[in-house]
Amino acid sequence: MSQSDKSVTPKFATLAVHAGAAPDPATGARATPIYQTTSFVFEDVDHAAKLFGLEAFGNIYTRINNPTQSVLEGRIAALEGGSAALAVASGHAAQALTFHTLLEPGDEFIAARQLYGGSINQFNHAFKKFDWRVVWADATDPSAIAAAVTPKTRAIFCESIANPGGIVIDLPAIAAVARKAGVPLIVDNTLATPYLCRPKEFGADIVLHSLTKFIGGHGNSIGGIIVDSGTFDWVGSRHRYKTLVDPNPSYNGLKLADTFGPMAFAIAARVMGLRDLGPAISPFNAYLILTGAETLPLRMQRQCDNALSAARWLAAHPKVSWVNYAGLPDNPSYALHQKICPKGAGAVFTFGLKDGYEAGVKFVSSLKLFSLLANIGDTRSLVIHPASTTHRQLTDEQRVSAGAGPDVVRLSLGIEDIDDIIADIESALTEI
Ligand SMILES: *Cc1c(COP(=O)(O)O)cnc(C)c1O
Repeated sequence: MSQSDKSVTPKFATLAVHAGAAPDPATGARATPIYQTTSFVFEDVDHAAKLFGLEAFGNIYTRINNPTQSVLEGRIAALEGGSAALAVASGHAAQALTFHTLLEPGDEFIAARQLYGGSINQFNHAFKKFDWRVVWADATDPSAIAAAVTPKTRAIFCESIANPGGIVIDLPAIAAVARKAGVPLIVDNTLATPYLCRPKEFGADIVLHSLTKFIGGHGNSIGGIIVDSGTFDWVGSRHRYKTLVDPNPSYNGLKLADTFGPMAFAIAARVMGLRDLGPAISPFNAYLILTGAETLPLRMQRQCDNALSAARWLAAHPKVSWVNYAGLPDNPSYALHQKICPKGAGAVFTFGLKDGYEAGVKFVSSLKLFSLLANIGDTRSLVIHPASTTHRQLTDEQRVSAGAGPDVVRLSLGIEDIDDIIADIESALTEI
């Protein structure tokens, strides 16, 4: 499938089924096989030398690459419109390898305050040990991001739809700040998926996913991916991204950005970060996620439609004090939802119960169709009451500032029939 000729570039739903895959050359197998092997036989010593020296591409060892993983990478790169991708063990591994490729000790990056809680922990605590310094800024105010730029800034990180608040971020405005600062914009596109929003089209240089959520989509495997937009000029940049531009001592002085052009970032993250830190995705997980990706457009549209119906229904209920879903016209994110992700505002949203903490506990305990757990993006509808679970350790004040006040309930809508979803919510509300 040629990507260069626009008239023959397949549409999204076609790419979701076919991109990156071909019948298995050895057996003719139509579904992508699970290449459950650690290693691959070299043709001869010379071939091995070329593979190790990055003079030829090919499979060596499943920590570095694997054919099942490669199909997944081709699939997601195509869906995001990127030049190359690197699939890894989890969304957090994708973040760790991205910053390992970009930063030296003492470097800073700016991160949106409105982020998945696990990312906040990773940036505040784990990254501190590498002396990678996070500077937090309010992503709903691009001028606050601009004000946080210093000579040490090397990247800007935000989500497209921010978990868990369902806030839609003004990606073009933040991309403009990144361009002015001469640093790449990294967008975690987990909640939107490329079906709702392709951040590259709004100026993102690197797009990340927790494949665990909507792309895998069935709540059965952990995975993550780094997509290289191929847009950032590492060689011409006014900052020195050493991993990309300096001669590489472990590859005979090879300069990755000079040699690999628009795929340099994805290759650097693989041949330096993944090779040396090691969070590879298993071929089996890559296979399950690939199978999930085939139905992404169908599931995502259904889940967004279910979320909008549930949000509308809840907004009209007397026991509900507020609903925060960007798909509702009175929501502060509604205009950005129309601009950034017009097909849907995602499948995750929060709402408040008038009777607070006790009502929240009673509500989540009374639901039967919804599962009470700490995940999103499953075919099944999911619920959590953050104050009594994920945010239990915090003080009341900390909970409120994290958007996890005592009355807050978070839903992740599945693909079930909306009548059954609403009936379940309705009956749980009568228990309060
Ligand atoms: C879950 C999640 C992550 C982390 O992904 P894992 O696969 O759990 O490591 C990162 N960002 C967002 C928005 C997420 O929802």
